[in-house]
Amino acid sequence: MSAADGRDDDAALVARALAARDLAYAPYSHFLVGVALVADDGTVFDGANVENASYGLSICAERNAVARMVLAGHRAIRAVYVATTTSPPATPCGMCRQTLLEFAPDPAAVRVVAVNPAGERAEWTLAALIPAGFTGAQLG
Ligand SMILES: [Zn+2]
Repeated sequence: MSAADGRDDDAALVARALAARDLAYAPYSHFLVGVALVADDGTVFDGANVENASYGLSICAERNAVARMVLAGHRAIRAVYVATTTSPPATPCGMCRQTLLEFAPDPAAVRVVAVNPAGERAEWTLAALIPAGFTGAQLG
């Protein structure tokens, strides 16, 4: 998907995040998460959480999608749609917020949209979810 006019197809991104959620591997927590991550040029990358019997090895849907984006050569995020079944829809965890920040040159311009199959949604900027975040600029 690419949005030549600069506007993302919101309904399609919600559907894509929900579809990615259906592919999650979460036999331990049963907490399935799907993501549709929009790179700066409009390319969309799916992600789903992948758990492991050694719980600490599990990876969240958001970081899964970021890894796929990076492997495709992209380095900046425009929006992230996160699908869960919770009400209200769940936000990205702290580790994922930090990971998203790494690829957000302007965190105030990155939209984070949380949705569920019931049609509920909440939206923030990444800057609102991780204020005063740690970035590479602070490494000197
Ligand atoms: Zn996470």
